[in-house]
Amino acid sequence: MPRSPDSPQIDTVLREVAELARPRASAGEVADYIEPLASVDPDRFAIAAADLDGTEHVVGDVDDPLPIQSISKVFALVLAMQRADAADGVAKELWRRVGVEPSGDPFNSLVQLEHERGIPRNPMINAGALVVHDVLLDHCDDPRGDFVALMSELAGEPVGVDEEVLEAEGGTGTRNHAIANLMASFDNLTHEVDAVLADYVHACAVAMTTRQLARATRFLANDGVDPASGRRILSAPLARRVGALMLTCGTYDAAGEFAFDVGLPCKSGVAGAIIAAAPGRMGLCVWSPPLDEQGNSVAGHLALHELSERLELSVF
Ligand code: GLU
Repeated sequence: MPRSPDSPQIDTVLREVAELARPRASAGEVADYIEPLASVDPDRFAIAAADLDGTEHVVGDVDDPLPIQSISKVFALVLAMQRADAADGVAKELWRRVGVEPSGDPFNSLVQLEHERGIPRNPMINAGALVVHDVLLDHCDDPRGDFVALMSELAGEPVGVDEEVLEAEGGTGTRNHAIANLMASFDNLTHEVDAVLADYVHACAVAMTTRQLARATRFLANDGVDPASGRRILSAPLARRVGALMLTCGTYDAAGEFAFDVGLPCKSGVAGAIIAAAPGRMGLCVWSPPLDEQGNSVAGHLALHELSERLELSVF
């Protein structure tokens, strides 16, 4: 693996930040709406930074798989952008069905959706992600397979689904069903509600490690090109738009706080991982299962703040 000249400094920063952030996990609670998440060891902790030159800096449990959960929303959007761009164009396909504004409401809220006639605020909340999966059903013969293939390509190795999480999620979706049905009532879902939900839940149950998630985020820090393969994943303008949505909408109701504290496009998931893209520098992922009230990893938030400050990563 190549080592850039500032590797030793970055390795030291990662170790120091891990030491500082890890104990903060005790201030949070792990998600308990499904058993596989409720029973996770709250002391799991990992930081991975994947430089654009291929250097990887890691500390902690970076090779333990976790369900990517809401982080899947970023990559489902990427896949939909790829397909829509190649067909009728992203503006025509996507942005008339889902907005690009922060919601200021919980990720699974129904209230705004009713007022706004079934058009979700953005693709980083559940309603928006369901529209994205509806679009994928139009464009992919095998949306689940295509999603897993994209994640495997970006991770640089095959990834799969956590079957236990998949099964457990299947029994919990009453609110997501309500969201999907509400959107269908406004004609903003074109496929069967159950088919859309099944694909969404499948994407949430994809299991990846912190290291793989950091790699998968790199192309967003590299104008849309995966530095590992040189393949363009998205055009540069579209990659910038994904970054903008992550920055403004990617961390539940705390996107303002993350912009303030971290200053990077981030996306968090209920399993306690947060990805971040540092343009021109690296893809990052931090993982610590205990969450704060907004649903973001407590120790992960602090770790990203410290990394951003110490390595001068903020986009501002
Ligand atoms: N499977 C979860 C749900 O949609 C994902 C939640 C999350 O990570 O925010 O309810």
